[in-house]
Amino acid sequence: MTKIGLEIHCQLTKLESKLFCSCKADYRGFEPNTNICPVCIGLPGSLPRLNKKAIERATVIAMALNCQTPQKIAFFRKNYFYPDLPKNFQITQLNIYGPTSIGQEGKISVEGKEVRIRRIQIEEDPGRLIYEGSSERTQITLVDYNRAGTPLVEIVTEPDFENPKQVRLFLNILSDLLENLGVSDPSLEGAMRADANVSIEGGSKVEIKNINSFYDLEKALQFELTRQQSLAERKIEIIQETRHWDDRRKITISARSKEGEEDYRYFLEGDIPWVVIDPQIVARLKKDMPESISSKRERYIKDFDIPSQVADVLSSDKFYSDLFEQAHNKTNAKEVANLITTDLMGFVDTKEKRKESKLTAKHLSDLANAIIENKITRNSSKTVLQTIVKTGKSISQIISEFDLGHVSDEKELTRVIEEVIKEESNAVEEAKQKPETINYLVGKVMKKTKGKADATLTLNLLKKKIAEQ
Ligand SMILES: [Zn+2]
Repeated sequence: MTKIGLEIHCQLTKLESKLFCSCKADYRGFEPNTNICPVCIGLPGSLPRLNKKAIERATVIAMALNCQTPQKIAFFRKNYFYPDLPKNFQITQLNIYGPTSIGQEGKISVEGKEVRIRRIQIEEDPGRLIYEGSSERTQITLVDYNRAGTPLVEIVTEPDFENPKQVRLFLNILSDLLENLGVSDPSLEGAMRADANVSIEGGSKVEIKNINSFYDLEKALQFELTRQQSLAERKIEIIQETRHWDDRRKITISARSKEGEEDYRYFLEGDIPWVVIDPQIVARLKKDMPESISSKRERYIKDFDIPSQVADVLSSDKFYSDLFEQAHNKTNAKEVANLITTDLMGFVDTKEKRKESKLTAKHLSDLANAIIENKITRNSSKTVLQTIVKTGKSISQIISEFDLGHVSDEKELTRVIEEVIKEESNAVEEAKQKPETINYLVGKVMKKTKGKADATLTLNLLKKKIAEQ
C-alpha cells in the first residue's frame, strides 16, 4: 500500500521580525545580505531573543489543526553543517522530553478523509543558496542570509495519504486555512514548502526534498511512485534515502543517505529557557480566532440559502469572504454572493489584480441593491463590475455613463411590445397555438431595449397583449 507523509514548512509572513532578532521577517526585496545582524548570522557571543508573537501565531495554527498544545515548550539545537546555516545549527523543537513542541496529535479532514497531524514545531528558516547554473554542475554557489532566522512553523503529518491527488487537496485546504487565520500569505514565493516521504508495500521510506511548488510536488510524487514500483517489479531493493527533485529534468535524484535523528546531535538550546504557555493567553487566542472556513460555509448555506458550491468558493478564499462579510445584508446576501462568484472572480484572479482593484464592499452592496430594485439588469452587472474594478466609479455614475438603466416602466415597455406585435404578426399568430414562440418575441423586445427590459415583466405583458389580439 502506498503511504505518503508530508513535512510542510510555513513561514509566518505576517510577523514583523525574525524568530530570534529584530531583522525583518519579510526578507523579500532586499539586496542580498542586507537584512541580517549578529544574531541571525550566528556571530560568536550573540544571543537569541525569542519572538513572543511567533509563539502566539504557532499556537493559533496548532489549535486550528485540532492539536493539543502543551503547557511548556522547549527549543533544541539541531546540529548540521550546511552553507545556508551560518550558526552550524538550527534552533528547532523536538519531543524527546515529552510533548514540548507547540502542537501534537491534530487532525484535519480532507474531503471526508481524516489526515492526522503528528506534530507542529517552531523553527528558524535557513538562508538561501543561489547556484550559477544547475545545482550539480555549478562552480559557484552564492549565499544570501536575508532569510536566515525567518519564523517557520513545520507541520508534520502521519503517512496518511494514499495518492498524490490527496496530497494536493490537503495542501490547498491547509493553504486556505493559514491564509484565513491571517498568519501567513501562502502565495508569496517560498512561503509554503513541502517535503514528502513516500513508500510502497514492502519498500523503505524515501524522502523527497527541494520541491518548489505544489504543482512540482505532485509531479515529484508521481515520478517517485513509478520509480519505486518499477524497482519492486524487478525485485530490486528500495533503499532508505533522501532524493532531490530536479525540476528541470522532472526526476528525483539520490542526494545522500538519510540521516537519523542521532546524526543531528540534538540538545536543549541553552540560550533559550523553557517557555511556559500561559493558559489565559491561550484562552484569549482561542476567543480571537477567526471563524473557520467550514463554519463560514455552513453559515452561508443556512442563513442565506446560498448554494453549496457558491458557499465553497466564497468561504475558502479570504479575499472573497472578507468582501462578502462587509458587503452583504439580510436582503442582498444571495445577490452579493452571486456577483462575487460569477462576475467578479474573473477580474481579480491574481494577487496583483486584487491589489490594483478599486472595488470596495460598498460598490458590491450598491450593485446588488440596484439589481434587486430593478434599476439594472443582471446581464449588465458584469460590465459594471469590470468598470468599478478599473475606475472605482460609483454605480449610479456607471449606469448613466453606459446608459444601462433598466426598462421596468410598464408604459415604456408596453410601447415597445406594441411595436413588436405589429412587426411580428406571424409570430404572434403562431404564439397563440405554440406558447414557446413567445420566447422569440421576448427576444425581439430585448433587442429593441438593448437588453435592458425586465424579463419577467416583458413576458407577462406580452402574454396579456397576445391574449387581447
Ligand atoms: Zn537578525
